[in-house]
Amino acid sequence: MLEFDLVARIRQRAGSREDVILGIGDDCALLSPPPGMQLAVTTDTLNRGVHFPAETAPFDIGWKALAVNLSDLAAMGARPAWCTLSLSLSLPEATPGFVDGFLDGFLSLAQRHEVALVGGDTTRGPLSIGVTACGFIEPGMALRRDGTTVGDEVWVSGTLGDAAGALAQWHAKTGIEASLRERLDRPQPRVTLGRALRGIATACIDVSDGLLADLGHICKASGVAALLEVDALPASTSLQAAADLEKRRILQATGGDDYELCFTAPARARAEVLAAAQACATQVTRIGCIRAGNGVDAVCAQGRPWRPQNAGYEHFGLG
Ligand code: ADP
Ligand code: MG
Repeated sequence: MLEFDLVARIRQRAGSREDVILGIGDDCALLSPPPGMQLAVTTDTLNRGVHFPAETAPFDIGWKALAVNLSDLAAMGARPAWCTLSLSLSLPEATPGFVDGFLDGFLSLAQRHEVALVGGDTTRGPLSIGVTACGFIEPGMALRRDGTTVGDEVWVSGTLGDAAGALAQWHAKTGIEASLRERLDRPQPRVTLGRALRGIATACIDVSDGLLADLGHICKASGVAALLEVDALPASTSLQAAADLEKRRILQATGGDDYELCFTAPARARAEVLAAAQACATQVTRIGCIRAGNGVDAVCAQGRPWRPQNAGYEHFGLG
């Protein structure tokens, strides 16, 4: 498929918004941000075999490529608006069938969040998808990583460990349970929750690398430590069925790819956090607290220190 065919195909389906003065087709897009708002800008790249299994469906690749970027905007409390798409592909993916499936996934998520695809680049090479997403945030309202202080409580949205559970099953070649697979392939960026937490949360991050690592980023940026209660981590019924207690702890505390929001808020804001979460029909759970020091200490139910056994997924197949 010739490159201009592909771009024409993308252009035809890209969608638009009132604030897109000029979209795909010229040397640059021309965009008109709302007066007084700050731009939040993020980029993430997905490479086949590294960020998704080689046999992932085109729809899911497209969905995930945008989802991980919208998740970054969500973690800042920003309202998504525009994105660009840098596609590197060659055979067997450089076919109308693959591109249409990819766009079905990418653009259905874009539409859901009223995001316009305003430009990009297309090159020949191993399958790689780079997306840049832009959103708006009121000055001073962004949910940064460096805003938490001693005494805050730590929260997480949704459930943790599902995507890692799916990956573990994939590695173990036992077949992947459908709802776990859904979490891995079609992460739902927590955009509404991120918006609702403006003015309430003191720090926020999306869980992409694993909770211990990502909460560690908040601690480092804020110059504090966290105490994490591993047995308080919310688990889906599918994960509970798929893994015994210790495997589950490992998946939940160290598994990535859930794209939930981990955030902090003062203890006195508990009711506000719960009201904000309820307003967007999203579960949130208190999982720890912020204290003086550095790094993240994890404890399990009886208050005993807990450390993940540093095993690769293949060492704890979930069959
Ligand atoms: P240029 O050489 O000026 O970069 P291109 O031929 O790369 O032009 O792109 C032409 C137009 O198509 C530009 O507006 C560009 O943003 C858009 N475009 C190219 N590839 C993609 C893509 N994968 N997704 C969205 N828009 C794209
Ligand atoms: Mg170009």
